[in-house]
Amino acid sequence: MKRRDFIRIIALSLASIPFRSYARDRKCVVLDDGGCSRKSIANLEKLVDVPVTVAVLPGSGYQRQTLNILRQYKNADVLLHQPMEPINMKERGLSIGQFGIYNSYSKKQAIETLERSIDALDYPIVGMNNHMGSLVTQNMGLMSTIAEYCAEHSLILLDSRTISTSVMYDAGIKAGAKAYRNSCFIDDHLSRLYSFSGVAIGHIQNTDTVNRYHSFAKRHDISRISQLT
Ligand SMILES: [Zn+2]
Repeated sequence: MKRRDFIRIIALSLASIPFRSYARDRKCVVLDDGGCSRKSIANLEKLVDVPVTVAVLPGSGYQRQTLNILRQYKNADVLLHQPMEPINMKERGLSIGQFGIYNSYSKKQAIETLERSIDALDYPIVGMNNHMGSLVTQNMGLMSTIAEYCAEHSLILLDSRTISTSVMYDAGIKAGAKAYRNSCFIDDHLSRLYSFSGVAIGHIQNTDTVNRYHSFAKRHDISRISQLT
């Protein structure tokens, strides 16, 4: 082996080993339903000194106030929290509002709705995830369309996994988007903060979640979603 090749191999192994383990260790908690209530504002204000990733509902009552706070934070990422049709929506008395993507939508309607949501936030978002959506996230046609849009616009696509048969993450990977999937919801299992890896989801209106996240983030390494590799 030539000396030059030997040096190259050493350099490659030194460069790759620590980087990979560092990347794998990074974790992020996305706080969903940003803008939904006055309580969500009070909770958000507690997070000024830790990294935060907030998914904001387009057109929500406290959207503007939420984004004004996040704009002042040095360490904050914003995702669009895109409403999508869940299973048995009407029977369950649920609604996804004027910014929702319905399962009956054509690809064109889905993109138009997505763009209206993005315009409604009027903020430099880093990506999107789904609000509800247990029906639409199983629809490969619509998920591919949305994933391709995210890949084209360099937006992160986070599958909230409101149903285990969601195909959003797979569509994202196939489209070449920077895609992640929720590993667990933490609101009712706050000790999972210590054990999960990758991305987990909590809710900003849940005061216990926010308090626990804050104390966790003060003591442990936690990333914004755009810092994951
Ligand atoms: Zn939600």
